[in-house]
Amino acid sequence: MRLIQFRLEGIYCVPGKFFIDPWRPVDMALITHGHADHARWGMKKYLCHHFTVPILKSRISPDIIVQGIGYNESIAINGVKVSFHPAGHIIGSAQIRLEYKGKVVVISGDYKLQNDGLSTPFESVKCHEYVSESTFGLPIYQWKSVDQQNEEMSNWVVQNQSYQKTSVFVGYSLGKAQRIMKAVEGTAPLYVHYSIHKLNQAYESVGIQLPKYEVLDFREDVKHVNQGIVIVPPALVDSNVIRKIPNMAYAICSGWMTVRGARRWRSADAGFAISDHADWNDLLDAIKQSEAEKVYVTHGQTAVFSKYLNEIGIESEEVKTEFGEEEDEAVYDKVEGSME
Ligand SMILES: [Zn+2]
Ligand SMILES: [Zn+2]
Repeated sequence: MRLIQFRLEGIYCVPGKFFIDPWRPVDMALITHGHADHARWGMKKYLCHHFTVPILKSRISPDIIVQGIGYNESIAINGVKVSFHPAGHIIGSAQIRLEYKGKVVVISGDYKLQNDGLSTPFESVKCHEYVSESTFGLPIYQWKSVDQQNEEMSNWVVQNQSYQKTSVFVGYSLGKAQRIMKAVEGTAPLYVHYSIHKLNQAYESVGIQLPKYEVLDFREDVKHVNQGIVIVPPALVDSNVIRKIPNMAYAICSGWMTVRGARRWRSADAGFAISDHADWNDLLDAIKQSEAEKVYVTHGQTAVFSKYLNEIGIESEEVKTEFGEEEDEAVYDKVEGSME
């Protein structure tokens, strides 16, 4: 019997009779993390890391049936040993390990190896089969160190201030926005859009300290933010709302800024290639560290990346999933695509 199957509803654990990050309503869903393309509405029961619980309640509904679990804690579901391990992607993100009759499969969800100072750092888990994402699975994607990224963002804010400008950062509201807040902490007063504030509350509810900030109400006058820092989600790019901000310079923060953002950069003043996904080298490192005999590649550069793995002697297959929609970094990809 195969331990996992790729079904219409999502990734299915056959003996366990549950799904991992399903995109259609099912009875039992194990959730790797709170991004909208992985944690969807309509499941009878949810199981996720403790830190993901308030995020699901905030984004899906306070009434969902959800059970929290700690990292490295294991439970049995229909005879399958299940445990969650840090994926380093965003708060509460987990790789899900399944063990049944001596066979081990790990489903990575989304992950990164860089320590962003907010997410529990990635831990490698050995397995026979690894289901890996490949959002940035091309050699051109190579991130700078987190320190260097933070310094560049802070320098940009200081430079804007010297021209009496307001620094506006665009980054998705769960994960990226909080990283930006930390990166530029202390350089200028910090203002965030309401959608980011809602998720900040989920961070703070599990004891993660974020820099001091104010919620910006765009229905009111926002002139007081002048020369400060404003963080908004991608949905507001090119909207009338952000044009209310006085003397603004705006920056997009996304892994796509490496190359794909070039066209959009014309309207943005800066682009920072920071990502909550592993870059090319880190994807390869994670896969090698897992010692998996077989790798299934999901969202992103599935075809190119799995072909490369086969070439270097790691048996691999691409898998079609419905991940990578909504608020994840793919949003920039879609925005660009729709402009063509
Ligand atoms: Zn994600
Ligand atoms: Zn994803």
